Amino acid sequence: MNKLITAYSYWTLLSWRKISNYFFLIASFHYSRWIKKPVLWGRPTTLSIEPTTSCNLRCPECPSGLRSFSRPTGMIQEELFKKIIDDNGQYLTYLHLYFQGEPYLHPKFLDFVSYASQRKVFTATSTNAHFLTEEIVDKTLDSGLKQLIVSMDGITQEIYQEYRIGGKLSKVHAGLSLLIHKRTERKSLYPRIILQFLVTGKNEHQLDGLKDWAKMMKVDELQLKTAQIYDFENGSELIPKNIKYSRYILGKNGKWELKKEIENKCWRMWQGSVITWDGRVVPCCFDKDAQHVMGQIPVEKLKNIWKNTSYQSFRNQLLSDRTQIEICKNCTE
Ligand code: SF4
Repeated sequence: MNKLITAYSYWTLLSWRKISNYFFLIASFHYSRWIKKPVLWGRPTTLSIEPTTSCNLRCPECPSGLRSFSRPTGMIQEELFKKIIDDNGQYLTYLHLYFQGEPYLHPKFLDFVSYASQRKVFTATSTNAHFLTEEIVDKTLDSGLKQLIVSMDGITQEIYQEYRIGGKLSKVHAGLSLLIHKRTERKSLYPRIILQFLVTGKNEHQLDGLKDWAKMMKVDELQLKTAQIYDFENGSELIPKNIKYSRYILGKNGKWELKKEIENKCWRMWQGSVITWDGRVVPCCFDKDAQHVMGQIPVEKLKNIWKNTSYQSFRNQLLSDRTQIEICKNCTE
């Protein structure tokens, strides 16, 4: 049901320009794989924009949580955000207002959502749901946000704080209840609320209870996410015992390896980009520390960066041997 309601919302925001652009991108992706050279016939159909690198929590596998970025940290300027939407919004089928950090810490975050929504862009965000006060919930409902992904990885405080260090489960519970209650009161369908549970070795025993919790809370969808572990070769207590929820498997040589075979392709490189708070364009959300900067807005426009030499040589490397790119080695895409 949630997928249908979300699809309906996508549908109402589509235009011929967005649809034809999307099909040109798919066609160029398949053609590129066929000729083994990157060819691009469209503009980004999805974007992730980072409102801020700041975060209130200290999650152990996240550079925001660890305060370990080597790139500059900060908050996106309103002018830069608007420029990105003005230049690219007419092609966007999905805008994720998230990359690293907690979006609700940006004082203008919900103004950004409204700005994009008014320009008929489907907006989504991911949050740890620690800032859903009465006023913020009302503003969220007014903003036109279509999808709210709540990261929550434990149904007891003890397990929750094992990964979400510094987090308070009671705050997530209170904020979500308020949001769902007010959305019902307004007879609104949006934002669709997705509870995203990162399955680790420390919380996998709570999965049955989690399903009951999600039903009790009346969230619209429960997503179980596999955890990306940086140094997985020697194992980690975060790798779940139930291999169904793990990206990794123990190899015959006693080392852990990726479960999924790596193929020399990646649709994400033909679909969209990720933009850091200071306008750096990076290939995807796995490049958390912006090691592969393709260009910077507003020095250059995204439509030019999207097809420039750096981007094309990155795509070329992906098509020829993806294992040579460090971030792509540990990616299940
Ligand atoms: S890490 Fe590489 S393969 Fe994975 S999504 Fe990013 S570009 Fe694609």
